[in-house]
Amino acid sequence: MAHRHLLQIEGLHPQQIEAMLDLAESYVLLNRSGKTQRDLLRGRTLINLFFEDSTRTRTSFELAGKRLGADVINMSVSTSSVNKGETLLDTAATLNAMMCDLLVVRHDQSGAPNLLAQKVDAAVINAGDGTHEHPTQALLDALTIRRRKGRLEGLIVAICGDVLHSRVARSNIHLLSAMGAIVRVVAPPTLIPAEAARLGVAVFHDMAKGLAGADVVMMLRVQRERMNGGLVPSAREYFHFFGLDFDKLAHAKKDAIVMHPGPMNRGVEIDSAVADDPVRSVIKEQVEMGVAVRMAVLDILARENRRNV
Ligand code: ASP
Repeated sequence: MAHRHLLQIEGLHPQQIEAMLDLAESYVLLNRSGKTQRDLLRGRTLINLFFEDSTRTRTSFELAGKRLGADVINMSVSTSSVNKGETLLDTAATLNAMMCDLLVVRHDQSGAPNLLAQKVDAAVINAGDGTHEHPTQALLDALTIRRRKGRLEGLIVAICGDVLHSRVARSNIHLLSAMGAIVRVVAPPTLIPAEAARLGVAVFHDMAKGLAGADVVMMLRVQRERMNGGLVPSAREYFHFFGLDFDKLAHAKKDAIVMHPGPMNRGVEIDSAVADDPVRSVIKEQVEMGVAVRMAVLDILARENRRNV
């Protein structure tokens, strides 16, 4: 990967992305076989430093680290007690003293993992920072799509919902565009970021038009915790116009897959019948791919950081 850390997808070369996906693919097979590879990170320490809530990401980094033999420590820090910059730097100094090798960071401030990366000796992995990026989510999404569709290039991917607050959307836009997919964003005008044009995506405000001919429909959570004002009307109205049900899905290709990074607001951005549909929904598969992708990332960073890890 020729990087010491994994802080964002933006700027990664398609070959680097491909290499991570290929390695992750081998970990899918290993996981399915029930085997582990506990010698790879034996004697190394992985710290999960989460300043924001998480279910899937934290657990899958923990599983990934353990399956590769690392000692895994989970630190959950309540954001309310954090005095941003200064405390982060204090934290960095503490972690350095503990000689941590791999540091997985989630923070509500965009850029926090980058700051830590400058201050710690460990390899830093961004597990989601503010509205900026969530690189391992985009990698696991890409792996899920590639396994289902056989490729990424040329696919039409509609990313729908709260794009404005979504680090998942940002990482996916960078990754999918780099790999030659055609990316659309579909949302009410209040939930489209100003930089959408710079990101080179087509913007739609109508689900029927945005989903027309799509191979992949990626739904996003309405992130009320990041909203200051009334950016969306009532949940009922939002569902009426932007919630994915089978009627709206009918505009996409017949074999289009449905994705959601979780946690889902059922009945707000997605109807339960679609979310749980065994044929169209790949939401559970995304979770499985998450473990494999995180194993691949830990493996690659361990090789790149031989001196430290
Ligand atoms: N779990 C994802 C994230 O942390 C998506 C979400 O929270 O809506 O970004």
